[in-house]
Amino acid sequence: MELLKKRIAEDGSCYPGGILKVDSFINHQMDPVLMKSIGVEFVKRFASTGVNKIMTIEASGIAPAIMTGYLLDLPVVFAKKKSPRTIKNAISTTVHSFTKDREYEVVISADFLTPEDKVLFIDDFLAYGNAALGILDLIRQSGATLVGMGFIIEKILSEGKR
Ligand code: 5GP
Repeated sequence: MELLKKRIAEDGSCYPGGILKVDSFINHQMDPVLMKSIGVEFVKRFASTGVNKIMTIEASGIAPAIMTGYLLDLPVVFAKKKSPRTIKNAISTTVHSFTKDREYEVVISADFLTPEDKVLFIDDFLAYGNAALGILDLIRQSGATLVGMGFIIEKILSEGKR
C-alpha cells in the first residue's frame, strides 16, 4: 500500500531494538483518513474469505478493525488485556509482549466468540507473531474458525509469518 509506505517514510522513526515508532498516525494520535484506506485494503484482501466477525486485540488494533468491520458491515470484538470482574464465560491465554518484554494475559468472553464465527484477525503490527498465536489459541478454545489475519505493518525481519 503506497500511501502507507510513504507515510511511514515521512513520519515514522526507528528506535533501538528494531522498534518502529508510528505514534503520530497509528499508535497514539491516529489518522482516520489513512485508517479508512487501510480498511479498504483489508476489505479487498479478505472480503471473499467468508468472514463474519472481525477480531482484534486492544488497543492499537481497534482502529483498523473497526474500519474494516464498518466497511464489511460485520461485528468487531477485541481481546482485552485486563480481565474485567464482570466478564462472563471468559476464555484466556498468555501472550509475550514484544514492546514490553513480558507476559500478559488476554481475555475474551465466549459470548462474543462462538463456533459459528469465521474470524478475520486484524492488528497494527506483525513482529514475532506472539499476539497472533495468542489470538489463535482463543479462537481454538472457542470453537470458532480463523479465515485470515491482516496487519497494517509486517516487520519481515522478525519472521512472525513463519
Ligand atoms: P508480535 O506479537 O507479532 O511479536 O508483536 C506484535 C505487537 O507488538 C503489536 O501489536 C504491537 O503492539 C507491538 N509491536 C511489535 N513491534 C513493534 C514496533 O516496531 N513498533 C510498535 N509501535 N509496536 C510494535
